[in-house]
Amino acid sequence: MKRRLTKLLIANRGEIALRIIRSARIFGLKTVAVYSDADANSTHVAAADESVLIGPAEASKSYLDIAAIINAARQIGADAIHPGYGFLSERPEFARAAAAANLTFVGPHPDVMAALGDKVAARRIAIQAGVPVVPGIETAELSAVRDFAARVTYPILVKAAAGGGGRGMRVVHEAAQLEASIEAASHEALAAFGDGRLFVEKYLAHPRHVEIQILGDEYGDVVALGERECSIQRRHQKIIEESPSPGISENTRAEMIDAALSLARVAHYTNAGTVEFLIEGANFYFLEVNARLQVEHPITEERFGVDLVCEQLRIASGGKIAAPPAPRGVAIECRINAEDPEHDFRPAIGTVLHLRVPAGPGVRFDSHLAPGTVISPYYDGLLGKLICFGADREEARLRMLNALNEFELLGVVNNASYLRDIIASEPFRNADLSTHFVEEHFPAWHPNDSDLTAALIAAAITAERDSIEAPPNRNGDRPASSRSPWTELRGFELWRSRP
Ligand code: ADP
Repeated sequence: MKRRLTKLLIANRGEIALRIIRSARIFGLKTVAVYSDADANSTHVAAADESVLIGPAEASKSYLDIAAIINAARQIGADAIHPGYGFLSERPEFARAAAAANLTFVGPHPDVMAALGDKVAARRIAIQAGVPVVPGIETAELSAVRDFAARVTYPILVKAAAGGGGRGMRVVHEAAQLEASIEAASHEALAAFGDGRLFVEKYLAHPRHVEIQILGDEYGDVVALGERECSIQRRHQKIIEESPSPGISENTRAEMIDAALSLARVAHYTNAGTVEFLIEGANFYFLEVNARLQVEHPITEERFGVDLVCEQLRIASGGKIAAPPAPRGVAIECRINAEDPEHDFRPAIGTVLHLRVPAGPGVRFDSHLAPGTVISPYYDGLLGKLICFGADREEARLRMLNALNEFELLGVVNNASYLRDIIASEPFRNADLSTHFVEEHFPAWHPNDSDLTAALIAAAITAERDSIEAPPNRNGDRPASSRSPWTELRGFELWRSRP
C-alpha cells in the first residue's frame, strides 16, 4: 500500500543520523533530529530541519527512551521514524510503539524483528529455509554442553541468544573452563540485554565473516546486493570491511545469495537487512540476521551505485524494489574510532581541535565530526567511516592508504594510524583474511615517530586550549598561557607523506 511520507524523525545520533538526514532530504522529506543534553551542538541537530531535545546525556534516558522519542515524533508532527543502527533499531517494542502512534517505522515488521533478533529462533528459521548453520545446541545446560563438546571437540563457543556487539560470548577451549564460561556469558548477557539465555556452537578455527545485503518489499519481492567481507575484527567487532569478498568463488557467492534470499522469504523480510555467514574452507554457515541498516552499508552503495537509505524510505512508503544494477569495482571501509590503539584500545574522549578530511576520486567520509565536536563518554566511539572505491582492489587500497595519510584529527585520540598500518601491510594487500587477522598480524602495535609527533602536538594544543578557556584570575588576567605549539613548530608539515 502506497503511503505518502512527509516528515521523518531520525531516532539516532552521530554519523548515521547525519547520513539519514542527507538521504531523506533527497527523497523529499522534512527531517527531525532528536538529541540529548550532550548533543545539543551536534552536527546532526544543525543539519535537520527541526530538532527535539529528548533527555539527558545517558542513552537510557534519551536515545533508548521509547516514550520520549514517540512523544517527540507526535509533538512535531512526524509521520515516520528511521531508527538508524544500534540504540532502538532492533527493538520490536519500538517498532510496535511507532505503529501504535500511527508512525511508519523504517524497518521490518516488529514480529519479523522479534523472530530474527533472537539468535536461537533465527537459527531455526535458517534451518527451515535449508540454510547451513554451525553445528550447535539450543541450550547451555552443563551436561548437554559436555555431550556436545565430546561430539564436536573443543573449542566451542557459548553465545547469548539476545547477543550483539560481541557481548555475552565466550570461547571455551577445554572442559575445565566450561562452567565458569557459561556463568560469565550468562551474566554478561543478562547485564547487557536483560536476557541471559545462551546457546552453544562449535567454534570454527579459522573462519571468515562474509555477509549478504538484502532488500525486501511488502509485495514479497526480495533482492540481494552482493556481499561484504568483514573478517578484520577486534574483539569480534568489525574494523575494516570490503566488497566484494576477495576470497570467495562465484559459486560460493551465488550459493550464499540464494541462502540469504531463501531465509528472507521464509521470514517474510521487508526493508533493508543483512544475513551474516561464517565461511571456512568450502563451507559457509549462517551466523545471524541484522534487521536494520549496517554500519558498513556504504561499501555496498559504492559498488552498486544505490542509496540504501533512499531504498529503505521507498520501501517504507509502500514502493516496490527494482532489480539492483550490476555491481562494479571494489570498495573498502575503515572505521575510525575514538580509542587508543597504543593502550589496549581504551576509549578516548575529547574535543575536535583540528580536522582534515581526505578527498579525491573514490573517497567518501561519512562522519559527524566538525571542529569543536565533543566526543563524550556516553556513546559509542565511532568518529567516522572512510570509504574508498576503486576499479580494482589495489586501486581502492591505495586510495584508502592515501586517504588515511591525508586524514588529520587532533584533540581526540583515534585509531587512524593503526588502520593505515593495516591497509599498508602485506597480509592485507594479499587479502590473507580471517577473523583472527588482527591477533595474527598485529598482535602488538605501536605508532611510528611521525604519529608520536602528531600526538604531542595534539596534547600541546589541548593544553593551550585549556589555558585559553581557563577563567581570568582576580586581576582580570588569564593564567600565563603557554606559547602556541603552531608557532613553536615552524616548518612542521601535518600533511606529510608517509611510507
Ligand atoms: P554479535 O551479534 O555479538 O556481533 P555474531 O554472532 O555476529 O555476534 O558473531 C560476531 C563474530 O564472532 C563473528 O564475526 C566471528 O568473528 C565470531 N564468531 C561467532 N560465531 C562463531 C563461531 N561459531 N566460530 C567462530 N567464530 C565465531
